[in-house]
Amino acid sequence: MNLEPIKAAVRQAAALCGNVQQRHIVAQQKGGDGPVTIADYGAQALICAAIQAHFPGDCVLAEESGRQFMELVAAEQRAEVVGLIGEAMGREVTEAEVVAWLDYGQSHDAPRKWVIDPVDGTKGFLALRHYAIAVGLVVEGQPVAGVMGCPGYPEIEGGALFWAQDGSCWLEPISGGTSRQVRASTVTDPAASRVLESVEKSHAGFDRMARARELAGLAAAPLVRIDSMEKYARIAAGDAELYLRLPNIKSNRPHSTWDHAAGAALVAAGGGKATDVDGTPLDFASGATMARTRGMVVTNGLIHDQVLAGVQALFNEEQQGQ
Ligand code: AMP
Ligand code: MG
Repeated sequence: MNLEPIKAAVRQAAALCGNVQQRHIVAQQKGGDGPVTIADYGAQALICAAIQAHFPGDCVLAEESGRQFMELVAAEQRAEVVGLIGEAMGREVTEAEVVAWLDYGQSHDAPRKWVIDPVDGTKGFLALRHYAIAVGLVVEGQPVAGVMGCPGYPEIEGGALFWAQDGSCWLEPISGGTSRQVRASTVTDPAASRVLESVEKSHAGFDRMARARELAGLAAAPLVRIDSMEKYARIAAGDAELYLRLPNIKSNRPHSTWDHAAGAALVAAGGGKATDVDGTPLDFASGATMARTRGMVVTNGLIHDQVLAGVQALFNEEQQGQ
């Protein structure tokens, strides 16, 4: 499969997001599930247009919809994003085309499913921190390929574009340039293991994760909090050893498939490991939410069992404390 059209669309989407971020951030409240900006719609439309043109017949699972675009976004802002999409594509586009792209491939099933989070980490995007533009390809419940734009990726001017295909993971500056293959790290020393977690404390249980790290022997491991699926990219590229995501103890919010599919594809291709908290594979077969998934343990592979043991020990403590 030729991922070039999707890579090109993610580059366009990153440029559009940067443009919105610098010039006119627009936030709306989406039916109670976090902020959404016009960049979300612009990025999704560009990616779906590429899927329609190059992979017709595949289906799509994506975070935003044409209906939301029409209902939540004021006419003036819709015109603005339609203009930005046209600029990115180098031709005039209409609002009707944008609505059709936003919904493209979502009403039917097919063996290959593109799973899109157009702006993952919208809170990070709004706060000028980190965010990701994420496209995963799921076949028979497995994330087999993916493309991810990380405009805030450290030490790469303009950010990094990652892609995973045929069992290897690649990195290139988003603005273009030389690509290189990346791999998960070989670090096993707990004191040198770099740990990643969410920034937003409503997204994950900080105390639980701290205790799990302690029980896994990683109390001395340096911790970095960053938004978005960039955490998966950093594991895939050997720039961190653990990304842990345990929900708050009282949370029953399911995990969204689009928050993990592209990331899991990168990590698998980079030679790392991404599983549920009990070591079972992540569940990408059950639609928009990962029905059976209780959290994520994502590592370079080498420290995986050690982390799973720490998480299990945490669960045992929590059960005893009840
Ligand atoms: P992160 O920056 O890694 O925390 O991931 C951002 C994603 O977290 C967003 O795309 C949301 O879909 C997701 N999210 C929002 N609220 C929650 C929550 N309460 N629990 C878990 N994930 C959440
Ligand atoms: Mg997201």
